[in-house]
Amino acid sequence: MSSHNHGSHHEPAHSHGHGHVDEDMLSVEQAYERVMARFQTLEFEEKALLDCMGQVLAEDIKSPLALPPLANSGMDGYALRHSDIVGASHENPKNLEVIGIVAAGHMPNRTVGPGTAIRIMTGAPIPDGADTVVPFEETDEVERKREGKPLDNVAVFADMPTGCNVRPAGEDISEGTLVLERGIIVRAAEIGVIASLGMDSIKVIRRPIVAVLATGDELETAGTPLSDGKIYDSNSFSVAASIADAGGIPKILGIARDSLTDLTTKLEATSGCDLVVTSAGVSKGDYDIVKDVLNQKGEMNFWSVRMRPAKPLAFGQLNDLEGRIIPLMGLPGNPVSAMVAFEMFARPAIRIMLGKKEKPRPMVGGVLTGAIKNEDGRRVYARVEVEFKDGEYRATPTGPQGSNILTSMSKANGLAICPEDLAGKDAGEQVQIIMLDWNEEVQI
Ligand code: AMP
Ligand code: MG
Repeated sequence: MSSHNHGSHHEPAHSHGHGHVDEDMLSVEQAYERVMARFQTLEFEEKALLDCMGQVLAEDIKSPLALPPLANSGMDGYALRHSDIVGASHENPKNLEVIGIVAAGHMPNRTVGPGTAIRIMTGAPIPDGADTVVPFEETDEVERKREGKPLDNVAVFADMPTGCNVRPAGEDISEGTLVLERGIIVRAAEIGVIASLGMDSIKVIRRPIVAVLATGDELETAGTPLSDGKIYDSNSFSVAASIADAGGIPKILGIARDSLTDLTTKLEATSGCDLVVTSAGVSKGDYDIVKDVLNQKGEMNFWSVRMRPAKPLAFGQLNDLEGRIIPLMGLPGNPVSAMVAFEMFARPAIRIMLGKKEKPRPMVGGVLTGAIKNEDGRRVYARVEVEFKDGEYRATPTGPQGSNILTSMSKANGLAICPEDLAGKDAGEQVQIIMLDWNEEVQI
């Protein structure tokens, strides 16, 4: 597949001294290109409107009707003929006979002729003959009610322009128009628009099913007792949560032990998935089981990517039991590395499958409040807490940046980037920040 396919056993471990640049390493962009080249938009599915939130519309939506279907009133008031109220004022009120009432959802049963009006509610169809609605405030309606007078007549106090408060049929959408184009993301407003056209199911690009497999003899599952020498598997959880957050459907396969048979068996459960994400066992110094099995079951590449955290990355494909080819991404084992590698490579891959075009995360420019070190010429993604203060974004490193320190990921809402060609960034310097969360606190 590529010259970076290190499938052989007992590969000599390179040691990278301080500041040494490994020429074998892929840039983040190279790794990104190679991964994304293997993904494409999935097929569509048709499903209930409310279940389509966040998915990509896979059909053009044309309106089968006009919206509103009929001209209707924008106010509570009187539907009348403008010619009857020309010159009306408080000094010169125009008196009209009230011949009926129409509420929203009901059809008027009379025509408005000269000298007459129909009492009308917001959203009710405009009666034939009427061309204007005068709101109650511009009539003696309130006064009549207060005095207990019947509402069989009304005095109009204002000469409102013709068509005033009449919402024409088709004002929002005319029949047959293209209302929503395929390719857009369905949000709450689109769900509302589609429902307003009377449709309760639509075609959207289906969500990918992404298998999650942790590997390692040291792992135990949360909710079970912890034996000596073991740790709880957090990667399955953080990765599954990230898959769901990216719009995929996670399928947790559990923990594969560092044994040929167990890993082989566990990988068989990936049948029918659109992507398999494993964690651990892919770095250069690792015991070779994961690499061996992946190589046996498909075609794998083991890369070093010029980034910190998350240098090791495996990517290739598995052949499933039905002879289908499934892309597989092997994330590094360290919990922060696994999450950052997911951000950089798995999230965009999932978005391609979902048919989403724009970059997964917004970037902002901001000022660092603490230093970021770059010791060996990699692109550093530093966990930072971003806040908007005094007109600028401020990024504060969230503490120790070791790839095993998951709590500093939990405190972060962004990843600040130190480019590979800089020895670091000092407090006060400008940085680009990938926003992981974009909440009110940041948006102000
Ligand atoms: P490895 O890539 O197998 O060398 O693992 C690197 C580090 O990540 C080791 O300290 C592992 O114990 C840890 N690790 C591997 N898998 C997980 C996991 N699923 N959850 C938490 N830590 C893990
Ligand atoms: Mg391991």
